[in-house]
Amino acid sequence: MESKLMLYNSLSRKMEEFVPMNPQHVGLYVCGPTVYGDPHLGHARPAVTFDILFRYLKHKGYQVRYVRNITDVGHLENDADEGEDKISKKARLEQLEPMEVAQYYTNRYHDAMDLLNVLRPSIEPHASGHIIEQIAMTQKILDNGYAYVSNGSVYFDVEKYNKDFPYGILSGRKIEELQANTRELDGQSDKRGAFDFALWKKAQPEHIMRWPSPWSDGFPGWHMECSAMSAKYLGEQFDIHGGGMDLMFPHHECEIAQSCASLGHQSAKYWVHNNMITIDGKKMGKSLGNFITLEQMFTGNHPKLNQAYSPMTIRFFMLQAHYRSTLDFTNDALQASEKGLSRLMNGLAVLQRVKPSAESTVDIAEFEKSIYTAMDNDLNTPIVISTLFEWTKTFFALEEGKEKISAQDLELLRAKVDCVVSDILGLQNQQQSESNKELLDGVIGMVLAERQHAKERKDWATSDAIRDRLKELGITVKDGREGATWEFSN
Ligand code: ZN
Repeated sequence: MESKLMLYNSLSRKMEEFVPMNPQHVGLYVCGPTVYGDPHLGHARPAVTFDILFRYLKHKGYQVRYVRNITDVGHLENDADEGEDKISKKARLEQLEPMEVAQYYTNRYHDAMDLLNVLRPSIEPHASGHIIEQIAMTQKILDNGYAYVSNGSVYFDVEKYNKDFPYGILSGRKIEELQANTRELDGQSDKRGAFDFALWKKAQPEHIMRWPSPWSDGFPGWHMECSAMSAKYLGEQFDIHGGGMDLMFPHHECEIAQSCASLGHQSAKYWVHNNMITIDGKKMGKSLGNFITLEQMFTGNHPKLNQAYSPMTIRFFMLQAHYRSTLDFTNDALQASEKGLSRLMNGLAVLQRVKPSAESTVDIAEFEKSIYTAMDNDLNTPIVISTLFEWTKTFFALEEGKEKISAQDLELLRAKVDCVVSDILGLQNQQQSESNKELLDGVIGMVLAERQHAKERKDWATSDAIRDRLKELGITVKDGREGATWEFSN
């Protein structure tokens, strides 16, 4: 906690020193996925970005309460206040319960994030589990005069609000400009103003997900869940709110308006936004044919992909760019990252082979300083990675005896490097685990061949002993027509 962490605050539009409200505890809220489809690259970037922030804050000694929500109700098509609920629609098309859809894609999301080595948040609240809190907050906004009831739905009154609080403070949009760019209400809408947004929507008769409220049987507006759940778990004021830049308007702008209208002040002190992913220079989109799910990335099963990319390659690729820069996915760039990651892992293996000397010619403090300077400068992971590359040259020089390191310093350097790579960047040595798997496969193959020889000479005692010993080690042997195979026992 000695060094100062500087973060770019989207609210003030400048770099600010991060000073938590409580010296030991940090509250972090990040908008999570709407669980109606397979997790894709667009999910991976915010997850990895805020995983780095979460890891680094913990590394600095803070106790972090990281809340990342699951949107399982209220997110309508086109992100507007009209249209079908995204999860309901999927459920209708697939003849499932909406909660079956939400659970299935939540599991898929967790599996993909685990592979990317994204740590799970401290609390993962579901919107559908916090209807009472959302109704209460909506009521408070109504009581304070910043919302109105219209035909069973409740809408936020942006024009009224803008007289007391600046609407557009986060996105920099002015209400007059919005007015000029918004099409006129068609007379069908229950809204008074074109950019008023729903706090509560009355459900149509065919709408499945519905709850009773003072205004109608219905469901909460999409923006309401994050305001209600962040207040519940992090308090009326908390340190950091994060999410993708695409959520800045209207979602985060509306969250700020809801907090001010219900509490009289803003909730989050720092707003942190990650930039977007492009593919071959274009925005990713289902209609553009360049929409790639994480499973497709991991298997290479997509026309845009020349090969499969491991989860660690994707994580490393993301960390090679600053989170506030756009990130362009191309096969060339990914292949370069794959090579870079393997070069880094080779460097780490070299460091393990270094033999200590009586004296040291390397400056470990210098290594630490460059890492922390980069991380403290708005989580500059590309600089951290280039520092690691610089140092792999030193590891080779140490192995070749061109540089020297004492036993004590060697132990320290290994620990520091491991901490940066594994704890802060969250990179796992896949190469090692893959080569371990190959090694294991080879060794067990030899053992099974021995057992086969024993069987051929009818030495059942030896054959059974080998099988039983492997079983004790957690390996099940299966005898088939093609010979014996093995797998890990459950
Ligand atoms: Zn949100």
